[in-house]
Amino acid sequence: MRVLALLLLTVSLTAQTPVSTETPVQALARKVESSRLRRTVERLAGFGTRHSLSDTTSESRGVGAARRWLAAEARSLAALPGSRLVPFEDRFTAEPGPRVPKPTEMVNVGVVLPGLDPTRAKDCLVVCGHYDSRANDVMDAASDAPGANDDGSGVALALEMAYVMASDRTAVSIYFVATIAEEQGLLGAAHLARRLKDEGMNVLGMVAADCVGNVAGYGTAREAGSARLFSEGVPSQETDAQKRLREALGGENDSPSRELARYLKRFGERYQEGLELVLMLRRDRVGRGGDHLAFNREGFPAARLSETLENYDRQHQVPRVVNGRTYGDSTAWFDPGYCAKLTRTLVGAFHHLATAPEPVRNVVLSGAATPDAVLTWTPSTDPRVAAIVVYRRRADAVAWQQDLVFAPGDRVVLPGAGTDNYFYGVATRDREGNESLAVPPTRIQ
Ligand SMILES: [Zn+2]
Repeated sequence: MRVLALLLLTVSLTAQTPVSTETPVQALARKVESSRLRRTVERLAGFGTRHSLSDTTSESRGVGAARRWLAAEARSLAALPGSRLVPFEDRFTAEPGPRVPKPTEMVNVGVVLPGLDPTRAKDCLVVCGHYDSRANDVMDAASDAPGANDDGSGVALALEMAYVMASDRTAVSIYFVATIAEEQGLLGAAHLARRLKDEGMNVLGMVAADCVGNVAGYGTAREAGSARLFSEGVPSQETDAQKRLREALGGENDSPSRELARYLKRFGERYQEGLELVLMLRRDRVGRGGDHLAFNREGFPAARLSETLENYDRQHQVPRVVNGRTYGDSTAWFDPGYCAKLTRTLVGAFHHLATAPEPVRNVVLSGAATPDAVLTWTPSTDPRVAAIVVYRRRADAVAWQQDLVFAPGDRVVLPGAGTDNYFYGVATRDREGNESLAVPPTRIQ
């Protein structure tokens, strides 16, 4: 009897001792906290308006107070124990234009996590939320425009990513940025994209997190289990040669931006149970735009992350009650738990992409009018490449359906697969499972 009791005790003790199977990336994602997201959004909404043309002298109201607070946040992020983050500022004068009456000083504010691979000093990732807000009239710089969800939520997401990734040892740099003047014509993002291009930076991927905290639509509609990833199918900057290749391959669904969106879904969903990232086959909501398009215009892959349900009573509205109906983008409608879910997906995906080995180049697809598909490429010289992953999907599918893993090399033959019924992409993978973006064929032979 006594022996049995002892045995039972041993079993129950074993059962109570948790064996940690958490990976380092899961640990990073777990650090995301909704309370910090809520605090950032409340602080930003507290500036009354953050319209790009609003007051810059007040300590408590307007865009100047907001950007000084953001700059202080950037310094705090850099001062965290073990932080590798460096404060970042991109200051410029916006010339008069349709939504800017006179020359106006504009500032993008953020932090950079410098990449550790010296051979890839020019490669980077970017995540942005725009800190400017607007009222009904896009030129109204005086009325209240709390901009809690649009886009206090996106700024909070970018700062929270920086917070949890502050000491992450990535191969390439990550810019975490609060952009200005999205509502005045994507001016901040356009300046940042051009600056990075002028500096010779190669943006592997940019994500605009814009409206990432609303789960309530109209009536009883609620959606907290999904979010949308918008990306262009045909690059807005397409050369004639690229157009001919796209037409020959049927590559309308394989632009670099679309591959980025696929990657964010594939790797991001691992880090948040119960959240689906939906690959939207359009560059943005119908007739509307966002900061990611400014990066597309410079030829960089970019996507927009947004909540699934928007509520237009709460966007671009002066807070007010009309006939019992409440308007305004107030903090009351911001759902920090939902925003935290989206943040975790981007933390996971950004870690993997920023840590992954260099991708292969010059992928050639051959074997047309034969039973086999043959893929050749210029191998990456990155010594960390441990495997080659060939992604495949049937020609009617949106997301990759199969990943075929091969030893490092420069050629794969897929007997019986053929070229016509599938799409292909080639990625590099390191020992920890970090993967580059999938590179679709850049030539047909
Ligand atoms: Zn917005």
